[in-house]
This record gives sequence, structure tokens and C-alpha cells, in this order.
Amino acid sequence: MRTAFLPFSHACINEADISAVSEVLRSCRVAGDAQASQIEQCFCEYTGAREAVALSSATAGMHLVLAALGIGPGDEVITPSMTWVSTVNLIALAGAKPVFADVERDTLMVSAETIQRCVTPRTKLIIPVHFAGAAVDMEPIRRLAEWLRIFLVEDAAHALGAEYHRSRIGRTGTAVFSFHPIKSISTAEGGMLCSDNPLLAGFVRRLKFYGLGVDAYDRQGRGMPAEAEVLEPGYKYNMTDVSAALGLSQLARVEALNGRRTELAMHYLRRLEGIDEIVPLAVPQYTMRHAWRLFIVRLDTERAGMSRDAFMLKLGEKNIGTGLHFRPVHTQRYYRKTITVEPGSLANTEWNSERIVSLPLFADMTTADVDDVVDAVKAVLCGR
Ligand SMILES: *Cc1c(COP(=O)(O)O)cnc(C)c1O
Repeated sequence: MRTAFLPFSHACINEADISAVSEVLRSCRVAGDAQASQIEQCFCEYTGAREAVALSSATAGMHLVLAALGIGPGDEVITPSMTWVSTVNLIALAGAKPVFADVERDTLMVSAETIQRCVTPRTKLIIPVHFAGAAVDMEPIRRLAEWLRIFLVEDAAHALGAEYHRSRIGRTGTAVFSFHPIKSISTAEGGMLCSDNPLLAGFVRRLKFYGLGVDAYDRQGRGMPAEAEVLEPGYKYNMTDVSAALGLSQLARVEALNGRRTELAMHYLRRLEGIDEIVPLAVPQYTMRHAWRLFIVRLDTERAGMSRDAFMLKLGEKNIGTGLHFRPVHTQRYYRKTITVEPGSLANTEWNSERIVSLPLFADMTTADVDDVVDAVKAVLCGR
């Protein structure tokens, strides 16, 4: 058994990152927008996006998108229940109604079919989630949204570097990325909105900084221009220069980070083959490039004779950290009380809810760490 605990994930920080952040700290210009505007430019170059707006989190980005689109009481927003709670919280806080689309059983992603079942005359927005680093099958969803004249925003929190039909996520449409420590690259906390719609990007850019119509204080270290005034009431969601410096340094090696996780994921897949109780997610068959942000498997609880929660606990006892992505939103207390879900309408979400577990995956892991995880999985299944 491992003597040191293997966390399920953590940010991979190297000396170059530390120097980049130190340099900003030494400059004493920690929250202007010099670094933040630079990361926007580099992000556009990397993803091919027309516009990018650096933010304090992906949650902030989703909030500003909902505000920009005027989502409010009487409106419905379709998104999966198998997602992080932030998007659904914002829909609820805006006074709109979240409507949950079921996911495909083996990819945990929504499809045009599962979305279509949720459409009503009140539907204003669809938010699909690229899951675990794979890309949603966007083509049919884009066609559906265009046909219905409904806005589409991609939750790309897991999808930095992922490609769909040979085009990077973020290049087409509107997508929101996260730089929380467990995502592909980290800025401690941070996010990025990409859009090919300059009107929407402009709105988000204004709203992220008090509605002032300027990006931040201190563009040239000289304070805010005297003519800056509130064009409309906004929020305080800009990315700091400290975060942006870390992000720039990380973005410069995103391909290496993603490549390393891909190697580790391939090693997992080889080593897990033949363990009947463990069923990895399927890799979609359409043309895409996986960013392998999470390595999620399903425990065949019947065959294993134990619950997923017990399995996670026993792996923890063997010094292996695990994650749960995600506990479906509709099963959480507030949403159980406030949202009625037709029985059976989220069958695949619920089936997976009992079985999914995320195994450790981050770029600093070694192949031997993956072997330790697989050995622990086998030991837990044998010792039941
Ligand atoms: C992490 C995550 C978010 C939120 O990102 P933050 O930057 O923490 O606000 C949103 N959606 C999904 C699917 C996520 O995994």
C-alpha cells in the first residue's frame, strides 16, 4: 500500500509559474489589467476565439452571460443536472427556471435529443457541458438552437484544449472556461469567457468591472481615466494580474499538461481492462480531441457487492484520493424541494449518480501512481 496519500487532483505549479507570479508581486502592480489583457490575447491565439474576457471565475462568467441575455423570471434555461452546481444556482438566483436535460449513459453529456425533450415556448438558453475533457456533440445542438432561435452557451470548465471537429472549444460560439485548481490550467481562481459575438463579449467586458466601460484601474500604471463612468450597473468580476501571470505561465504549457494527462489516462485504460466491476466512460466516436481533465469510471455496484460511497471510503483508507463529478443538482436539498423532476426523465443521470467515481488524474502524477491506484482498486474489490 502507498505510504503517502495520493490526492485526486491538485494544481501543477512549477518554478516558471512561481517566477512569473513573483515578478508581478515585485512590480507592485497586482490588480491592474496588464497581465489580464495579455492572457486574453494569448487565450484567443490558443483557442482561435474572436474575443476573450478574463474573469474571477467561470461562475462569474456564467452570471454575466445570464445578465447580458436578460434571463429572469418566466424564462427557462436547459442544462444537465449532471454538472457543477454553480450554473444552476445562477439560473435560480436570476429568478429563472432550470430545466434538466438527461445525459447519455456512457459519456455523461447532453445531446440534441435529450435537450429537445425539455424545450418549451419559455426556453431562452441552452447550456451544454463538455464533460471530463471530452467535447459535446455540438453540431446537432447548434442546429437545434438556431432553428429554435435560442441562445447557446457552452460550459467549457473541463474543456481547455479539447477539440470538436478539429476546431478548439472556444473558437465557435460562446464558451466559459474555469481556472480553478482542478481544471486543465489554474490561476488559483479564475475564468475566461470566449465569444464570436462581439456584442455579448462587450457587454460582459463592461459588466465585469462595475459597468464602467474600462477594463480595470491602472492600464498604464496611471490610475483610472477621468472619463470612466457607469454606463450601466455592473459587478466586480475582473481577473487580478497575479492570477493572470500564473495563468499565462500555465497556458504556455497547456499542451504538455494535457498531453501528460492523456498518457496517464491511456495507462489507466490499459491497466483497468479486464476488471469487470470497473466501467470507464466511453470516448465519443465523432471527431474530437479529448483533454482528459477527469478520469471517471463507474463502479458496477451489483457485481462489486458494495456501494460507490463504500468504494471511495475504502480507496481513501488505502491512501488513494477520489472525487465525485458530480452529485446531480436535482438530488441536492434545495433543488429537491424546488424543482419537480418527472420520474424516469433523468434515468441516465440517476443511474450514473450511484456509480461514478473520479480517480486521481493530474499532470504531475507518475505512471507508478496510476499503478498504485489500480492496485488499490483491485485490493478493495478482492477484500470485500
Ligand atoms: C469547475 C466548474 C465550474 C465552475 O468553475 P469556477 O471557476 O469554480 O466558477 C462550472 N462548471 C463545471 C462543469 C465545473 O466543473
